[in-house]
Amino acid sequence: MKNFVLRGNLCTSRTRNCFQWVPHGYLVCEEGRSAGMFAELPERFADYPLQDWGDCLILPGLVDLHIHAPQYAFRGTGMDLELLEWLNERAFPEEERYADLEYAREAYGIFAENMKASATTRACIFATRHRQATELLMDLMEATGLGTMVGKVNMDRNCPDGLREGTEESLQETERWLEEIEGRYERTEPILTPRFIPACSDAVMRGLGRLQRDSGLPVQSHLSENQEEAAWVRELCPWAGCYGEAYEGFGLFGGDGQRTVMAHCVWPTAEETALLRARGVFVAHCPQSNTNLCSGIAPVREYLDMGVRVGLGTDVAAGCGESIFRAMADAVQVSKLRFKLAEGAGRPLTLEEAFFLGTKGGGAFFGKVGSLEAGYEMDAVVVDDRGLARPGGLTLRERLERVVYLSGPEHIRAKYVRGREIFVR
Ligand SMILES: [Zn+2]
Repeated sequence: MKNFVLRGNLCTSRTRNCFQWVPHGYLVCEEGRSAGMFAELPERFADYPLQDWGDCLILPGLVDLHIHAPQYAFRGTGMDLELLEWLNERAFPEEERYADLEYAREAYGIFAENMKASATTRACIFATRHRQATELLMDLMEATGLGTMVGKVNMDRNCPDGLREGTEESLQETERWLEEIEGRYERTEPILTPRFIPACSDAVMRGLGRLQRDSGLPVQSHLSENQEEAAWVRELCPWAGCYGEAYEGFGLFGGDGQRTVMAHCVWPTAEETALLRARGVFVAHCPQSNTNLCSGIAPVREYLDMGVRVGLGTDVAAGCGESIFRAMADAVQVSKLRFKLAEGAGRPLTLEEAFFLGTKGGGAFFGKVGSLEAGYEMDAVVVDDRGLARPGGLTLRERLERVVYLSGPEHIRAKYVRGREIFVR
């Protein structure tokens, strides 16, 4: 179905401070893009097939800028540990299992199925160091219909033997992975994925920088997640003025049209914030993960005020689930704690801002994505909130807020990515 019309209560972020509502309106999809939101259906679209969703809410698909597919299997456990402890006790031993393709098929199958059922339409996904399991994950994500970027992880130091690659091996396997998947997918793109500076030698980082220049591929990694880690990077890269500058030194920190997303950014120096902005690097704000791993609270208000680009990430399994609605609620909550606890912190985030981060803010990493406005790729979810019943009427904004705080995948009736129907139920 190429061209069609959805009818329902349309809501999208116009700016980060302002929703655009069209109650009982018409959302027109033409050739995979929104042709606009209308209170009355214009005559020229009258022949398009129409799906009438009654009183349901129709929202842009949600965008997850940071999630680890191989950690999905142990989500909801180890939630009382801190970052480096959690990596060694939980994340690394689990990731070693993806050398076994049978295990990978089962675990990634569950991940792909649940991502498909969620309100998320786009995601930046970490796999593991294993080339074959990464390709398997990409095959599975392609089959969901979602638009994703998936990265084979590079790691050649400071990790358990079972996960450590040889330096040459790390680069060769990355090149082989890119060759093997070339032309294989419509919706699944590769993304260069150095795990983080402590796990990647200078030689691997330099090699990835070269590969990025030659290929133009996007980049994802972690930045300034906790203070211990940032201090470690200062030791490993004494030539860099800040953690971000270490990535920049290897050619892996945005600028010159390079699309880069960095998870966390909880502890930036003033210099690092300025560099994030100047290089157009996206911050993947992962509030639940930052809470669970005692990382801290990212200065999102300051980022927004300074013009740094920000979206949301679930960071499974440091975040316990794949819901970006939950990430919106968490972003509001932690911003309130920061407002109370951190000296000079700006005012807490509003619902409008949190919704913007989880749609249009993160969507910009994928291009014209994250909005129902004309010209955007047609990613949409239909939410039926009748199951969240209460006596008395609610405004549409109140209904949306309750969806953010209370809904689950069972409330999603339909989902579309680039105008393609993912499911209707
Ligand atoms: Zn992460």
